[in-house]
Amino acid sequence: MQTVSEHDVIVVGAGPGGATTATALAQRGHDVLLIDRHTFPRDKVCGDAISQGCIQIMNDLGMAGKVKAAVARGEFHRLDGMRLVGPSGHVLHSEFQHGAGGVESYVSPRVYFDALIQQQAVESGAGFLQAEVKEPLLEDGRVAGVVARANGEWQAYRSRVVVGADGVTSTIMRHLRPEGGQHSDKHRAVALRAYIEGMEIYPHEVEFFLYDEILPGYAWIFPAGDHVANIGLGMRLDKFRGLKRNLKKMLQDFLAMPDLRARLPNSHALRDVAVWQLNFGSQKHLRHAYDGALLVGDAAGLINPLTGGGIHNALISGCLAAETIDEALRVNNTTREGLAIYEQRCDEAMGPEMRKSFLYQRVLLNYPRVVDFLIRYMGRHGGVAQSFLSKL
Ligand SMILES: Cc1cc2nc3c(=O)[nH]c(=O)nc-3n(C[C@H](O)[C@H](O)[C@H](O)COP(=O)(O)OP(=O)(O)OC[C@H]3O[C@@H](n4cnc5c(N)ncnc54)[C@H](O)[C@@H]3O)c2cc1C
Repeated sequence: MQTVSEHDVIVVGAGPGGATTATALAQRGHDVLLIDRHTFPRDKVCGDAISQGCIQIMNDLGMAGKVKAAVARGEFHRLDGMRLVGPSGHVLHSEFQHGAGGVESYVSPRVYFDALIQQQAVESGAGFLQAEVKEPLLEDGRVAGVVARANGEWQAYRSRVVVGADGVTSTIMRHLRPEGGQHSDKHRAVALRAYIEGMEIYPHEVEFFLYDEILPGYAWIFPAGDHVANIGLGMRLDKFRGLKRNLKKMLQDFLAMPDLRARLPNSHALRDVAVWQLNFGSQKHLRHAYDGALLVGDAAGLINPLTGGGIHNALISGCLAAETIDEALRVNNTTREGLAIYEQRCDEAMGPEMRKSFLYQRVLLNYPRVVDFLIRYMGRHGGVAQSFLSKL
């Protein structure tokens, strides 16, 4: 097979995880090729909630001006608080505290958000290629690049390290992790997302609805602008399979609840309705480092098992991958041994929160009465609320 080009690093997937990795590596002076099957802007099924932690990392990558301009264009919609509605209808209301330097949280449709980081990667010096990656290029048991189709032809692209940042259906992950070492249904979720216009919304507050049928999981209404909301629901895959229900029907049932129905305009249409999967970071003993390759973001499976939030962890893992690869390239050791510290760094940065969130998810969200008790009596000091706040 013909080799088209050679690079220090090839990053597969230009979503938040891959684009962050590519930006951080290009800013350190490495030759990076960022590959995605789509050109940008493009949509990604998501609740679009962007936590303060994401904005902090974007600022660190030199994106403060881009974020400010996106806010001014209305592509980032500011959040001031959240409402958590329990199974009996009790509401826990919390206001967000701004982060250091006035950093805020937002709802930003991924069509805008992802394009911003992808653009930052390119401006930082990463090359961008629109191509479908079929598989990692394996030589003597190590990853030596990727096989990708650009302009209708399958060709080899070589690199010293490949980063699999190609999302939950990652082809890089599926080729490197043996099937028995992948996520089980208990650590996965399925969710539906849509946009709705004209519904009565709390203009700057995200709403989470926890009710009997949806647990462990939730429905959400996130304001994406003055008159538009991102709306959806998701639940743990093993429980969802047991229910034998259809997510679209479940969303219609949610909107038919009396409190929700009263907020809908006379005629309403949902747009961009789509279903996607989530892999939680709560599954133990998953490998993220291989000879010549690392997995980042959803490809590694780093979504918070309580909130379903994964963008912040995609950005964190992207930064940690870049740091690790930079060191490995300098000492010319891109074997698993040279890259394995990445797993330790990920565990230190995200492991404790992941374990705590999984415990909350299992113990609390399985028992609607406990959720009610917490919402009614523990108020804003409840651990569930704090976890939702910090790990949106
Ligand atoms: C319904 C739903 C709601 C969610 N809500 C939130 C939320 O509100 N807040 C939050 O923080 N997280 C949320 N998440 C999780 C969040 O969407 C993910 O964690 C996040 O997108 C992970 O980013 P990533 O860069 O790892 O992967 P992705 O964003 O999935 O990006 C992967 C990229 O790889 C590309 N790609 C895939 N395969 C190939 C291939 N073979 N060749 C070339 N390119 C390829 C894709 O085109 C894509 O651009 C939600 C998820 C779902 C499903």
